[in-house]
Amino acid sequence: MSVEKERNLAIFGAVPAFKEKLHVGKPNIGDRRRLMKCLNDILDRRWLTNDGLYVKDFENKIADFIEAKHCLAVCNGTTGLEIAIRALGLSGEVILPSMTFIATAHALKWQNITPVFCDIDPKTWNIDPQRVEKMITPQTTGIIGVHLFGRPCDVDALAEIAHKHKLKLLHDAAHAFGCSIKGRMIGNFGDAEVFSFHATKFINSFEGGMIVTNNDDLAAKIKLMRNFGFSGYDEVTSIGINGKMNEFSAAMGLTSFESLNDFIETNRRNYHQYRKELENLPGVSLIQYDESERCNFQYIVLEIDEKLTGISRDQLFKVLWAENVMARRYFYPGCHRMEPYRSLFPNAGSHLPVTERIANRLLSLPTWTSMDEQKISKVCDIIKYCVAHTSKLKSKLSHKKWK
Ligand SMILES: *Cc1c(COP(=O)(O)O)cnc(C)c1O
Repeated sequence: MSVEKERNLAIFGAVPAFKEKLHVGKPNIGDRRRLMKCLNDILDRRWLTNDGLYVKDFENKIADFIEAKHCLAVCNGTTGLEIAIRALGLSGEVILPSMTFIATAHALKWQNITPVFCDIDPKTWNIDPQRVEKMITPQTTGIIGVHLFGRPCDVDALAEIAHKHKLKLLHDAAHAFGCSIKGRMIGNFGDAEVFSFHATKFINSFEGGMIVTNNDDLAAKIKLMRNFGFSGYDEVTSIGINGKMNEFSAAMGLTSFESLNDFIETNRRNYHQYRKELENLPGVSLIQYDESERCNFQYIVLEIDEKLTGISRDQLFKVLWAENVMARRYFYPGCHRMEPYRSLFPNAGSHLPVTERIANRLLSLPTWTSMDEQKISKVCDIIKYCVAHTSKLKSKLSHKKWK
């Protein structure tokens, strides 16, 4: 950064580095013309939902891609989790990480199941299987493993624990579409896995999700449950909900999926640029992906070690927002510090030391197809500048306005 530019940070009163706000999850759009053709086709057919052609096509293509037996499209990931939780017969207590999006916990609590928050591994930020075993009580019926930021959790260790204690194992795979572990695609682990295709996920169907399982009986149950329990025109065989995906969403999902390789290539390029530009910056480490596996490079997550940078994650966050870089503190402060869980388990933090530490250190940066080389360079320059001028920044940030 040039000397003049150094004085021009927005927190010092200059115009922000970016005129328009850069968002972390600015939706990726596939082939627009192809999408419009599909939408017109749907209108011409007048089949808008209920196991339509596009939903079936979307399900089949994803099943082929991840080599799983049953892919069941749903209206969103959260409803997918709830249906899977019910179909698996979970009750009592279920163990899950607190370091996840709040929907993982809500999907349990909404059904009167107690979420039991477990600490994470400080390296992968995923649920720590060794701690899972210590959280099991006679009320425990299942475990939910989350593949945080697309890095698969320890599926083998969790499966072993689940088997040993006769628990069900569900995975929240909202971040891990297109990822693999030991050469096998995510979607094939545990009793079932759930993807999200929300607009802010890199493959989107506006709103949407997919439950994946290789268990025939479970798939049959889920199919009934997502459509009110209807097994025939006038026949209802179980309690159910309206969890169906509509045809427009499926068309969006399909065109999004057709651009999968382009999206991943862009994510990968962005990731490598961030890596190169932020390399050797003390106290700032970028998420590591296992590139020998299939990987979606969906998130650019920094871990900030204030002892080495001299500036905290929250201070850096404020500087970036002032520049219109809308970085996000995913998943601060952890589910256990949000309601209703904060009131229900006021002391949960005492057995979640790693979660509490990591939640104060992570920062997600903008990526995907809305970013380009120049923008990424500029974002990295701001971060480098912050680390090089901590005292100047800190005195500014100590003013009331920036607190
Ligand atoms: C996005 C997300 C969900 C919820 O998915 P929706 O499709 O938005 O309902 C669940 N879990 C995690 C970890 C997520 O990031």
